[in-house]
Amino acid sequence: MKQVTLTSPSKINLFLEVLGRRDDGYHEICSIVALTELCDTIILERRTSGITIRVRDPKVPSGPDNLCHRAADLLLRHSGIHGGVSIRIEKHIPVAGGMGGGSSNAAATLWGLNLLYDLGWPREELTSLGSELGSDVPLFFCRGAAFIRGRGERVEELAALTPRWLVIANPGMEISTASVYRRLRLPLTSEKAGFTMRGLVESGQVEAALSHCFNRLEDVVLEAYPPVANLKQRLLLLGASPVLVSGSGPTVFGVMREAKAAKRVASSLVESGIAAVACRTLEKNPLLTTER
Ligand code: ATP
Repeated sequence: MKQVTLTSPSKINLFLEVLGRRDDGYHEICSIVALTELCDTIILERRTSGITIRVRDPKVPSGPDNLCHRAADLLLRHSGIHGGVSIRIEKHIPVAGGMGGGSSNAAATLWGLNLLYDLGWPREELTSLGSELGSDVPLFFCRGAAFIRGRGERVEELAALTPRWLVIANPGMEISTASVYRRLRLPLTSEKAGFTMRGLVESGQVEAALSHCFNRLEDVVLEAYPPVANLKQRLLLLGASPVLVSGSGPTVFGVMREAKAAKRVASSLVESGIAAVACRTLEKNPLLTTER
């Protein structure tokens, strides 16, 4: 096999609670994520040696700092393969947008190299390798939805939600996750609401689960970045419900009842200069069904 094309999905946090700061500086979280159809494309091609990255988006590094580069380097070293890879990245997921784009690209690179070099490593091994690259990488090996704890590396598979229409909108700024955590003043928090939502998702009560959507980081983001607050308000007025900032933002998602309404709302945002798409939550992670 010489080349493989991978679909690298984004995630939204339907629930995100921060439980406290750990001694190692990371935050202990409890989260429920769903993967979405808003995806990047990653094309890997075998080379005899070295790792190269091609990406058009100026916000994405094209050297060793790129998460795909780091993933490839880790996997090649870990496997002892004498070979290299050229990586082409087509970005659609907003960069530094709270949708885990870089982490997803890293997971896709691990998955693709496993195929390209015929390693036959199981998903569990790639997941554990992924956790060395970043807290959000392991979740991108889930089938569609996941319950996440620890600093993000403890991923428990959940039954995928029956697809829901979303409008995903980005006010065109980048927010560093670290800066949001620095601003966060935590009250006493618990995992209880996360477990409640997890139970509802597991028993297929998606509507009830969606009524529990929550993001502890949202108030910090809305206060520090008024365009995000305006965007949330606008989505609510256009009929989306619930509407929530994903992760550390600034991407905002709104749940819509039907495709038609979702597409209409996305178009009206695009017409006013805001990057927005209508898409669904994913029932099956496209990464896991990549054709060899
Ligand atoms: P995080 O929670 O890690 O900040 P995010 O979803 O908000 O995740 P990403 O799109 O993953 O944001 O980008 C975070 C940073 O990672 C960006 O500043 C970007 O320069 C860098 N980066 C490295 N590799 C990639 C990649 N393949 N795609 C996107 N960003 C990348």
